[in-house]
Amino acid sequence: MIEDKHTERTNIEDLGEFGLIKQLTRDVELKQASTLKGIGDDAAVLDFKAKECVISTDMLVEGVHFDLSYMPLKHLGYKAVVVNLSDIYAMNAAASQITVSIAISNRFPVEALEELYQGIKTAAKIYKVDLVGGDTTTSTRGLIMSITAIGYQDKNKVVYRSGAKPNDLVVVTGDLGAAYMGLQILEREKKVFEVNPNSQPDLDLYTYLIERQLKPEARKDIQILLEALEVQPTSMIDISDGLSSEALHLSSNSEVGVTLYEEKLPLDPVVINTCEEFNLNSTTVALNGGEDYELLFTISQEDYTKIKGNPNLTVIGHITEKNSGNYLVTRSNESVALKAQGWNPIKNS
Ligand code: ADP
Ligand code: MG
Repeated sequence: MIEDKHTERTNIEDLGEFGLIKQLTRDVELKQASTLKGIGDDAAVLDFKAKECVISTDMLVEGVHFDLSYMPLKHLGYKAVVVNLSDIYAMNAAASQITVSIAISNRFPVEALEELYQGIKTAAKIYKVDLVGGDTTTSTRGLIMSITAIGYQDKNKVVYRSGAKPNDLVVVTGDLGAAYMGLQILEREKKVFEVNPNSQPDLDLYTYLIERQLKPEARKDIQILLEALEVQPTSMIDISDGLSSEALHLSSNSEVGVTLYEEKLPLDPVVINTCEEFNLNSTTVALNGGEDYELLFTISQEDYTKIKGNPNLTVIGHITEKNSGNYLVTRSNESVALKAQGWNPIKNS
């Protein structure tokens, strides 16, 4: 499928490893003051002065983390960068550099890698991070990509998973569950296409969901917003595996309990409608859907007036003593234990 899309097909061997690196990175620009040396030497050189430096790495394996039959390479490159930057923003830090390492089989022509790098470089440009290095090697099968993101923050302003205190408020950015429903739509269309390759699906209704799945965005804006509001969160995490799972990470790392309220969970109307269509419970999807890349954090009660009414932020619960446990209070006022279900149980329910 990938091969068919490319009219021109240059074999990687024709360029050689160095030629390939040069081609993929030829138009990389460096914008960050902290980048002293980018691509081209044995190592990049960064200078964060008096700031603390924050580093995070993720590896993505074809067939495990992504499926190229409905994820175009450009989108994959974009998403891989964004997902890594999200981890930096989840430390309440600014992101400044990335490195990108790839292992590729000879099934990929140079043109396919150019497409992947277009996505990577677009994300780098939009999020204003410098691509400062990486590694290029071969794999016997499929594509493996590892991205490292680097960022910085003033001393004592980095936010960990471990700082939540009883009576703190639990806040989430944006809305939940859309990326998971986007995946449901894409998987359904893939099946339809396998049966009838001439089908022309009308996906307009689901644009928001598909975008959230294929082209997620990381909340670069939140650290800036919280700084402006003079709110220092007590703990923070990004939502990659689902709200439930991440809320439990916060409570266990902080040695506290957490109570969330079903009626407070922010859901887009398109998510609610599509859940009905798929016969899925929208609360289950919001709790366990994953890949939303929103931020979940806690703030002291005293800071409530500073965030109140902000359209980006929703208070969804509060922190309790550890022995109170972790609960979701339903609309019918029942307390249900929070569980880290992940994706699969949704499919089975
Ligand atoms: P070495 O053999 O010393 O590891 P390489 O030839 O692998 O050096 O890399 C040369 C330069 O190109 C380095 O600056 C490296 O960070 C960069 N580089 C290598 N592969 C990639 C890649 N896939 N994406 C971005 N930069 C890369
Ligand atoms: Mg190398």
